[in-house]
Amino acid sequence: MPVINALAIDTEEWFHSELLGGQRPPIFQAPEATQQVLDLLDRYQTKGTFFIVGEVAERHPDLVRSIFERGHEIGCHGFSHHPLWKLSEDLFREELKRFHSTVEGILGKVSIKGFRAPSFSLDNRTKWALKVLIDYGYQYDASIFPVKLNPLYGVSGAPMQPYRISLEDVRKEDPHSPLMEFPFCPLKIGRLKIPISGGFYLRALPLPFLMWGLRKINRGQPFLVYFHPWEGYDRTPRFKLPLFNRVISYYGISSALKKFEFLLKHFKFARMDQILGLT
Ligand SMILES: [Zn+2]
Repeated sequence: MPVINALAIDTEEWFHSELLGGQRPPIFQAPEATQQVLDLLDRYQTKGTFFIVGEVAERHPDLVRSIFERGHEIGCHGFSHHPLWKLSEDLFREELKRFHSTVEGILGKVSIKGFRAPSFSLDNRTKWALKVLIDYGYQYDASIFPVKLNPLYGVSGAPMQPYRISLEDVRKEDPHSPLMEFPFCPLKIGRLKIPISGGFYLRALPLPFLMWGLRKINRGQPFLVYFHPWEGYDRTPRFKLPLFNRVISYYGISSALKKFEFLLKHFKFARMDQILGLT
């Protein structure tokens, strides 16, 4: 039996990335960019979890309807896409309130079980967010990136497969916690932990290495692929950015959708709530 892996589509605009430094010119492409991903998933009869940014839902209600009607899971990726470290507990409650009223206005009452923090911004500095998620009825979070490579995010020492997350220390398991955590799963080679299956890492790594690494992970557990629709859209505008930010933001965009399709062809995927047994 093939292992079933988790598929997360972070449904946001091309300008939501922190690396663009807050510039938000009014060029909206989320519907077209996401449509390409939806069509591919239909072609491979695959369902995934779409973590949607509230302001994208507000502007493009038809996109939300289309995602939902095709049988994908709707998850929350914040309202404004501000990382948790830019918010307070009260502002985060406001974000969730606006997200839920927006989605309810489009789809009616639907169960939203999963949250993904913008820029993987859940760590012990922002663990107050877990209590807020529980208050809003969330059953799982998917924001822990258990490798510290990037100055923006990463929680060294966190588990690398789903666990009940402690509200006191996000790196710890607590069997009594009401919230599951579905962390990102890196490739382990000896003591090295290498992120491979999402975002820049997926765009940058050569396909043969990616395939080898994903098969190696699958010998022990499922992996989690995350993909942003703008990463596979050839009309994503390119800003003049400092070199590091430019490479991380734009490297490999022209071939990313083909790579994503290759993964759909060679691995099995499902919605995150299904893998966690929450449906
Ligand atoms: Zn995002």
